[in-house]
Amino acid sequence: MRHLANLSLVESVLSSAALCGVRAAVAFALVGIVGCRALAPTVSLPARNTVVLEQLVVYTDFQLPKQHRLMGELTALRTDLSAKLSLPVSDEPIHVYLFESADQFRRFMQRNYPEFPSRRAFFVETDTRLAVYAFWGDRIAEDLRHETAHGYLHSVVPDLPLWLDEGLAEYFEVSRGHEGVNAPHIEELMLRFNQGGWRPDLARLERLESVADMTQFDYAESWAWVHFMLHTTKERRDVLFRHLTQLRERVPPTPISVTIRETGPRVHESLVEHVMELERQANR
Ligand SMILES: [Zn+2]
Repeated sequence: MRHLANLSLVESVLSSAALCGVRAAVAFALVGIVGCRALAPTVSLPARNTVVLEQLVVYTDFQLPKQHRLMGELTALRTDLSAKLSLPVSDEPIHVYLFESADQFRRFMQRNYPEFPSRRAFFVETDTRLAVYAFWGDRIAEDLRHETAHGYLHSVVPDLPLWLDEGLAEYFEVSRGHEGVNAPHIEELMLRFNQGGWRPDLARLERLESVADMTQFDYAESWAWVHFMLHTTKERRDVLFRHLTQLRERVPPTPISVTIRETGPRVHESLVEHVMELERQANR
């Protein structure tokens, strides 16, 4: 998910159903969180150990092996993302705070970011700092890939549209070697399609301004558009690359919902066919 910078929040990782699916309950949950703010005990940021992994600076209060496979994957994500999106790399530090337990993480977030919804992890961008907050739980690999992808992206591309920011993070949260194929999203999209309820609408996604307004299904469709552009034709890939270049050069970009139409007819049907083909490949 993406966070709040200046303070705008990019939501955390909730690519998966458990977290993103409860978005409707967020407003209700926030009442409870804000109400407890004065009572939340102080929890310090992890600081005992620091590991520098190129652009990432990882802080923990527990011992983290420097050769940990996940850490290697997160480091590789920097160059993978750069190569896949034709972007430069940055040296701007991304501070990654890894709490040992979910309880410590939640207490820290309630105390310091009481306005944030309840999530497993967050990426927070301010005017001066890129930071990730997460805890060492069962889904830490997916969570950290998602959040550090936000970090790598924000260090080189300003003002990413929300849907594209999340669609890219959902793409890069998939472990290496799977070409960004996000199986839970394929399942959700095809289930809805087979029930007659999915009509892709990129212009609608482009109007989303807050992660609180994004449903799990919006995350899935955002991912699908990203995968479609990156894995079908050169023309569609170039649409994405040009959009990222315009953002980097601070040229007001033409919405992708407009430029993608120039790549051929029936683009929405082609998107659905692409996801159907991914489902067929997964079932082979
Ligand atoms: Zn995100």
